Amino acid sequence: MYRKCMASSLTRRCISSSTRTSTTWWDHVNPASKDPITGVTEAFLADPNPNRINLGMGAYRDDEGKSVVLQCVRDAEAKIAGSEFLESISTSVSSKLVEESLKLVYGKDSNVISEGRPAGVEALSGTGACRLFAEFQKRYYPESQIYLTNPTWSNHHNIWRDAHVPWRTFRYYNPNTRGLNFAALMDDIKNALDSSFFLLHPCAHNPTGVDPTEEQWREISYLFKVKNHFPIFDMAYQGFASGHLDIDAKAIRIFVEDGHLIGCAQSFAKNMGLYGHRVGCLSVLCSDQKQGVAVKSQLQQIARAMYGSPPVHGLLLVSTILSNSDIKSLWLREVKVMASRIKSIRSALRDNLESLGSPLNWEHITNQVGMFCFSGLTPDQVKLLAREFHIYMTHDGRISMAGVTSGNVSYLANAIHQVTSCQQETLNLSPKAECKRPT
Ligand code: PMP
Repeated sequence: MYRKCMASSLTRRCISSSTRTSTTWWDHVNPASKDPITGVTEAFLADPNPNRINLGMGAYRDDEGKSVVLQCVRDAEAKIAGSEFLESISTSVSSKLVEESLKLVYGKDSNVISEGRPAGVEALSGTGACRLFAEFQKRYYPESQIYLTNPTWSNHHNIWRDAHVPWRTFRYYNPNTRGLNFAALMDDIKNALDSSFFLLHPCAHNPTGVDPTEEQWREISYLFKVKNHFPIFDMAYQGFASGHLDIDAKAIRIFVEDGHLIGCAQSFAKNMGLYGHRVGCLSVLCSDQKQGVAVKSQLQQIARAMYGSPPVHGLLLVSTILSNSDIKSLWLREVKVMASRIKSIRSALRDNLESLGSPLNWEHITNQVGMFCFSGLTPDQVKLLAREFHIYMTHDGRISMAGVTSGNVSYLANAIHQVTSCQQETLNLSPKAECKRPT
C-alpha cells in the first residue's frame, strides 16, 4: 500500500492512501430540494411532444413564444459598444443607475429624492436586492421577523431564511373569489406585533396576479402607520400590471405621501428583459440625508462582503436606457407592448374557455393582472395537464401568461376545460385517460 510519510518537529506520521480517502468532508450533505419553478422547466424540456407548453417560467415571451431582446436594449448596446467600461466598475455608472432607478420608484419630481433621503445601491437584480435588505434587517433588527403574503414567490422564504430572519405569513389571497382577502389581510396586519417588517408586492403580485385597489392600498398604508410597521416593497414587475411605470408604483407613492419610511427592491429582469444580467436596485427611504448617507454606506459594506460589486455590463445598459430620453421613451413604449400582449392573451384564454361551454367562472383570468394567473387548478389537475396534454406549470396552478400565445391558447383552453370538467373520473385512470386530447 502506498504510504506517504511527513516529518514534523515533534512526530513522524505516516498517512496511508486508504486513510486519506476515507476522510470525507461532505458526507453529511444531502441533495437540496428542487426549486419548484426550475423543476417545471426541466420536466418541460424532457418532454419531446411538439405540443408541449411551458407555463412555469415568469419570463416574457412574444406571441410566437420566442424570447425577446427589446430594441431599447439593442440601442443601449450600440451606444456603449467600444467604450472603456470593461476594465472596472465606474462609480459614475452605478450612481447614475441608482439616481434613475429612484425616479422610477418615488417619481421623477419626488421631494424625498431632492431631500436626499433614499439610500440607494445597485443590487444583483430583484433577488439580490431582497437579500441585501434581509441582511441589513438582520444586522440592525436582529430579533425581528418578516411577514410574507400567503402565498408569495417561493424564493422569498429562502432569502429571509438564509439571512437568519424568521418569516411568518399574513393572509392575502381568497381561493373562493380568486381575489384579495382584504378583510383577513387587514386583520393580520392589525394583529401582528407593532413595528413588524412586512414584504409587500406593489404591483403584479406573484403568484396570484391579485393586487389591492388604490383605495385598499390607502387603508393598508393607514393601518401600517397606526401599527408602525415597516414595508419593504418587492417591485419585480413594474410596468407589467398596467403598462405604465408610474401607475404601477402608485402603492409605493401612497406610502411615501403618508410619511412612511420604506424599502424597495427593484428588478430590471422582466421589464427590460435582462434576466441574465442581474441588474437591480435596493433603496431604503430614510428620514433625512444624514441617515440616508449612513444607511447607504452600511448597505454598500454588506454588499462588498457578499459579492463585491455587481457586473458592470448590465449596469451600463440599464443606466444608458434610463438616462437617454429617446431610449427611455422607446423602453416605456416597449413595456406597454409587453403588458398589452399579456392583457389581451388573458382575454383570449377566458373567451376560449367560455366558448367551450365551461360551466366554471373564469372571470379571474381577466381580473388578475401582470405576468401570472392564479388559475385555481388543483395539483391533481396540474399533473393531469402535464401527463395528458404536455402543459407544464407550478403545482399551485400558477400560469405564466407570457407562455400563452395566439397559437396555443385554444389548445390550452381545451386542455383546461377537459381537466376541469372530467377530472373526477380520470384521476385514478391509467395513463390513457378518458379526457381526450383536443383535436
Ligand atoms: N420578486 C418577485 C416577486 C419575483 O417574482 C422575482 C422573479 N421571479 C424576483 C423578485 C426576482 O427576480 P430577479 O432576481 O430575476 O430580478
